[in-house]
Amino acid sequence: MDTKTRRTFLGGFITSFAATASVIGCKYALADTNPPSGDQPLSPSPSSGPEAILPGFDRFPHAVKVMRARLVYRIESGDLPDHGMMVGIRNWQQQVPTPQPYTGANAWHLPVSPVLAETPLSCQNAFYRGAIAIAANGVPIFNPMKAPNEDVYLLGELDQWGGHSGRSDDYHYHVAPLHLQDVVGTDRPIAYAMDGFPIYGETETDGSPVGALDQWNGHSDAENRYHYHGTRGYPYVNGGFRGVVGVSGDEVTPQPRTRPFRPAGTPLRDVVITEFAPIGDNAYRLIYTVRGAPNRIEYVIGAQNVTMTFTGPTNASLTETYRR
Ligand SMILES: [Zn+2]
Ligand SMILES: [Zn+2]
Repeated sequence: MDTKTRRTFLGGFITSFAATASVIGCKYALADTNPPSGDQPLSPSPSSGPEAILPGFDRFPHAVKVMRARLVYRIESGDLPDHGMMVGIRNWQQQVPTPQPYTGANAWHLPVSPVLAETPLSCQNAFYRGAIAIAANGVPIFNPMKAPNEDVYLLGELDQWGGHSGRSDDYHYHVAPLHLQDVVGTDRPIAYAMDGFPIYGETETDGSPVGALDQWNGHSDAENRYHYHGTRGYPYVNGGFRGVVGVSGDEVTPQPRTRPFRPAGTPLRDVVITEFAPIGDNAYRLIYTVRGAPNRIEYVIGAQNVTMTFTGPTNASLTETYRR
């Protein structure tokens, strides 16, 4: 690998590691504002409880485990989804998918009985940190906007499945995973917003067309059950929270943390990710072009380490091992 390419891969080392330390702590900060009267914030729960069934998640029994702990569901996930990933990305931060430990005290939480909020919260200009929903396959869904007027999908940062990998090499979606409808069926949610209300796909549960939606991409059915729908245009997923959520800083709380384990990559804009495939147990190859020149990353995920080999257009390569 030539010096210039290496610098691209290793750029941002110092600043990113300095920034990393502050991201990790503070797992379960409680809401920092008092909710309106009648609203109940979600509380942290014990790390165990009897197993429970939530429609949608039940279609991914190997990827998602749901437990009930009093008033909340605890949802464990973190495996990579069983669909393709990364292909189609044109604007890339050089992060790759790795499994994440959304388990134990670092699991997802949803209220067992979602409550409509007196003052719904919008995701426009807010909730840029953390997940705003969790898909039926256990993959988190982040705000479709990463900053005001910066639509992650329109910026070319997402793959054909609506996802990409974040700073912790954590795979997540930024739009509704409408493709999951084919797996769960029209009668099950493709995701749940963090307020606990379900997100269905592009039809109602009986297969009929979706009626008018409110500004949060939701509405109530004939039995007055509120729910959201995924759409192909903004807000794509829940455009906010019609239901009560705990909020801390700029994110819903509680929710899992991820931990970056390697230096941040610099953004690549003239890039196309053309292939991503397993090459062995917990081993993957990602192929991409930069201004037409071929590059690849091969990596193996171990219990403690991730070993990555970066190969540039001249076939020179660099191997790095990172401790997780
Ligand atoms: Zn992202
Ligand atoms: Zn509906």
